Amino acid sequence: MIEKKLQKRLKKAVILVACICVLFLICGGAFSAYLKDAKNQLLREQGILEAEEYKSRILKQLQADFQTLSSLSIFLGSDYSLDQDLLAERLSQTQKYNNFVTIAYYDQDLKGVISNKDKNTLTRAGLSELSAEGQEGIKKAMSGESSVSKLFKSTISNSYVFVYSVPVFEGNEITGALSASSHIEIFSDILSGNTVLGGGGYIHLINSDGDFLIRSSNTVVKEDVPSIFEGPYLSESSKAEVQEALQDQERIFSSFTYNGQTYPFLLEPVGLNNWYLFCVNTGGGLNSGSVLSIRVVQILFAAIVLLIVFLMLYGYRLLRNYNQALLQLAYYDTLTGAENMSRFRQRLADALKSTRGCIIAFSIRQFPFLTEIFGKEKSDQLLCQIKEIAERHIETGEFFCRDAEDRFYLFYKETDTGIIRRRLENLIKEIETNSLFRRTDYQLAIYCGVTISSVGSDPQEEAESMLTRIHFALDKAKGGHSSTIWFFDTELHKQEELENYIESHMHGALQNGEFKLFLQPKTDLKSGSLCGAEALVRWQSNNGRMIFPNQFIPLFETNGFCTNLDLYMAEQACRQIRYWMDNGIDPVPISVNQSKLLFFEGDYVQKMTDLLKKYRIPAQFITLEILEGMALDNVDELNAKIIQLQNEGFRISLDDFGSGYSSLNILGNLKIDEVKLDRDFLISAADQKQNRVRLIMEEIVRLAGRLGISTLAEGVETPEDEQLIRTIGCDTGQGYLYSRPLSISDFNKKYMEHRLQKV
Ligand code: C2E
Ligand code: MG
Ligand code: MG
Repeated sequence: MIEKKLQKRLKKAVILVACICVLFLICGGAFSAYLKDAKNQLLREQGILEAEEYKSRILKQLQADFQTLSSLSIFLGSDYSLDQDLLAERLSQTQKYNNFVTIAYYDQDLKGVISNKDKNTLTRAGLSELSAEGQEGIKKAMSGESSVSKLFKSTISNSYVFVYSVPVFEGNEITGALSASSHIEIFSDILSGNTVLGGGGYIHLINSDGDFLIRSSNTVVKEDVPSIFEGPYLSESSKAEVQEALQDQERIFSSFTYNGQTYPFLLEPVGLNNWYLFCVNTGGGLNSGSVLSIRVVQILFAAIVLLIVFLMLYGYRLLRNYNQALLQLAYYDTLTGAENMSRFRQRLADALKSTRGCIIAFSIRQFPFLTEIFGKEKSDQLLCQIKEIAERHIETGEFFCRDAEDRFYLFYKETDTGIIRRRLENLIKEIETNSLFRRTDYQLAIYCGVTISSVGSDPQEEAESMLTRIHFALDKAKGGHSSTIWFFDTELHKQEELENYIESHMHGALQNGEFKLFLQPKTDLKSGSLCGAEALVRWQSNNGRMIFPNQFIPLFETNGFCTNLDLYMAEQACRQIRYWMDNGIDPVPISVNQSKLLFFEGDYVQKMTDLLKKYRIPAQFITLEILEGMALDNVDELNAKIIQLQNEGFRISLDDFGSGYSSLNILGNLKIDEVKLDRDFLISAADQKQNRVRLIMEEIVRLAGRLGISTLAEGVETPEDEQLIRTIGCDTGQGYLYSRPLSISDFNKKYMEHRLQKV
């Protein structure tokens, strides 16, 4: 029980702590996810803002370049359109003040001037002198459209450039086209700034095919791949998504993994020539703070969880140790280390679920004296040794315990009394020859009680019942001086239990009227009619239990209660006769059984006559049955009493004649009025071969007749019995043939109401 409770408590504590941990982890996870989400959101917004910024700076740069070119076109349109050499010189000079690599002017006839920075100028050049992009730009400008070309490798400057083209007007008329190529690196300053994402990122410029136009020098990807679709950038799964977004000129967030690290990136359309800003977040810079704070939060949570787990483990260990200590106290004997009675009781109930067996309780004879003689220390040592011996004498599935003082209990998986006795004898022998006392002349002796489990009873109940029974067995074994083994005897125990019940309840029962008067008719053998009745007691306890005289009369005779009961029954008989007389019924004499103790009380005669007076009944209605055994001690004293009673008018009957030390002398010596032949005579006489018994009976009846003593035969059960007693000359018969003892109401109904009619 205790063990289960403790385990339950431990389990509860573990579950509680585990729940707290899980809850904490969930909260931590959710919080960290929230922070991460917030950080990502922040980064995205920041990325977009920055991309917008860079976009506008790029566009501004383009715009500025366009403006420069447009201003130049206005200037060209007015003065230099016809003089190509002059134009070439001017163009060459202007190049000192701008970043254009090449400036080309073409008139309507597509004759042009090309001025390369740091190189010679070319006049009257055909359109074919220009790159395809340049030619296209010139053509668009001729038709009035300003444009910026795609990036291409210039054959003139032999470097990657793109071309701005604007028309040249004379008034409203287009007189020519001006184009200028510019290295794309002009954006590099913008894009390679270390301020991207607060230093935590970098930006490439790509076109809608994913080809790099400008690679930031801060790139984490060191491989020189031409496109973001090559190399380590995009996983197969995100490639399609990115491609689609690029084609649709949409903004897209994605990420790539490089050297085991994931980098989120943003593709932001510039809004010109399908250019894209490829903004990569490296996690440093501005983000590093938020990343750090997330890390701190995560670490904090992890630390708290670790702390909880540590506390939990520590608490668990403390609780377990505490539980173990409690269990030790609850289930173990502190002196010997053996299990205690609580544990034994529990194990017994468990063991009986699967097997039958026996329990043995044993103690050391005169243990208190032994302690007094040899001292507490020695007697404690002895108990410890017994524990070790007991340990050696149990087999698998068996167990034992030490209860208080020198009391030990064992459970053997054995029901055979012979085997149990042999095993116990070995155990006792080992304890008796104990080394502690070998050199003294003190003889250790053990007394054991044994009880074997019953078949088919509930294990829990049987365990309790066995533990009760074992005390009775041990109590029986206690007497004597040498070692004893006593097996619990169910029959004996029942008898003892009954005796205990009788002795503890007899006074109350007498007061409560539980002793009932039953009457058995006596039949006159000549007339065949009722000539009297014997008062027989029945104990009908209020709890419904019926106890017969043979079960309690012998006990009452030894404890003296018989005197109370007999007087009570005599009074009941008197009361009954009074009742008949009061009700106009012709009374019959009632025989009451009198015990020796009452009969020899000094004031017995007085008591009896007082009763007669009290109920105002003539003494001849009361016959006093005495037993032949009373005559053994002093016949004269008995006779004196008999005569005294007869003088008062009572009749005296000698009961159970022939059952004990009967002799015909008794008949001769006692002044009795009636002799009741014991039932044994009829039992023996029923056997036809026992003719001698008949002769004896006949002789007794004849002698009694001559002495003026009437004869009654007890235990007349059959017509043959009646025939026999009639033949030998008995006066009266009593037995089941006529009637069993009846309750007063039954007796009255059967015999006395009939006598009323007669009156
Ligand atoms: P008892 O005085 O010899 O009573 C006769 C017993 O034999 C009664 O048993 C009765 O029931 C039984 N009996 C009668 N006819 C037959 C028969 O045909 N066959 C058999 N087998 N038995 C028959 P009961 O009532 O159990 O009484 C037993 C004894 O207890 C009595 O023997 C008597 O000695 C004693 N007893 C009964 N009542 C009292 C009482 O109030 N006081 C005293 N001191 N002793 C009593
Ligand atoms: Mg009797
Ligand atoms: Mg009798």
